[in-house]
Amino acid sequence: MPTSADFSFQVTHAQGAARSGEFVTPHGAVETPAFMPVATQGTIKGLSMDEVAAAGGRMVLSNAYHLYLRPGDMMVRALGGLHAFARWDGPMLTDSGGFQVFSLAKLRTVGEDGVVFRSHLDGSLHEYTPEAVMRIERNIGADVVMQLDELIAGQADRAAARSAMERSLRWLERCRAEFDRIARDGREPLGLTMTDAVLPDDLPSLLPAEPERERVAPPQALFPIVQGGTHPELRRASVAGILASGDWRGIAIGGLSVGESKPDMYAMLELCAPIIPATLPRYLMGVGFPDDLVEGVRRGVDLFDCVAPTRMGRDGTAFTPDGKVQIRKGSHRTDKRPLVEGCGCPGCTRYDRAYLRHLFVSEEMLGLRLLALHNLTFLLDTMRDARAALRAGAFDTWSSEWLARYRGAAIAAR
Ligand SMILES: [Zn+2]
Repeated sequence: MPTSADFSFQVTHAQGAARSGEFVTPHGAVETPAFMPVATQGTIKGLSMDEVAAAGGRMVLSNAYHLYLRPGDMMVRALGGLHAFARWDGPMLTDSGGFQVFSLAKLRTVGEDGVVFRSHLDGSLHEYTPEAVMRIERNIGADVVMQLDELIAGQADRAAARSAMERSLRWLERCRAEFDRIARDGREPLGLTMTDAVLPDDLPSLLPAEPERERVAPPQALFPIVQGGTHPELRRASVAGILASGDWRGIAIGGLSVGESKPDMYAMLELCAPIIPATLPRYLMGVGFPDDLVEGVRRGVDLFDCVAPTRMGRDGTAFTPDGKVQIRKGSHRTDKRPLVEGCGCPGCTRYDRAYLRHLFVSEEMLGLRLLALHNLTFLLDTMRDARAALRAGAFDTWSSEWLARYRGAAIAAR
């Protein structure tokens, strides 16, 4: 069970709904508001953890669904847990993988007990229950673990949204019970399910020297997820249900940026943030375009994650203060300017747009890496600037000017 010594959150500056502060985990502190780079498979695509840290990444997110399927959560645990395996000593969070089960897996059947699905890798059959997900996330060992929730489309009707939200609350109860049970009783023994059954005999044994000690779960915090689609009364009921059911270390807002309009998303944030206790970090899941981050901070969000910076970067799209730039465009052919003047990333300090364009047109790997790292740096820098503006009491002006420049340029470019 997490103790107050393992996790804490302190708001140091606030302006309107926006605030800056510090979220402390067993692997160190994160200054908020913060963007969490996404290491879906235990790696931020194309980048080393050292590059992510040098860019200012402090807390990273990984995905329990992907690691459970490959290399296996027990394997991650036997190899030392995800922090050691991926060589990331800072704070880390795992998503339960509910989103991936609902978006990637084939032939899924959702029932009250959980989700039965076929792996998108090899078609093998798996069952995701709230209890199984807690065992998986306890094995992987991230500092913050997310509950299993039921996901629906952004524009789902009220009945479907209500049913999924209520089921997510019931699943939260089961997650918490299993999370606490593992804290009490320890994790499953390591050897039986892995070394004996799965690994060939000729591989080195990973059995721990002290099996009983190894079963002790690391200190972790379980975050619940607010659901309810774009229906205000369902969002309110979800927050109320979550607050009534436990003493949490942070609360996530899920089910947004899944097809609803931006005004709907912002309205849901404006509704949820004030009714989540100010003493808890608020984590907006899967939202990470630059303007969404600034709009989110304005509405009281502390933590964000999204694959957008690396995915867009691999596609040749770069974030800049003046909006998005497609580096493949012919207009960059003779452009000797850096991608973003003043950006400290290797792509901007070492190269010009003409060379970056050349890398993309020639399908060179370096181009993908440089743009992914630039986009990540851009989001991390934007959050650093937001924190500085909050500390200086200048966030309203800073965020208005930032958004006007980002969007003004985007409109002018059309
Ligand atoms: Zn850059």
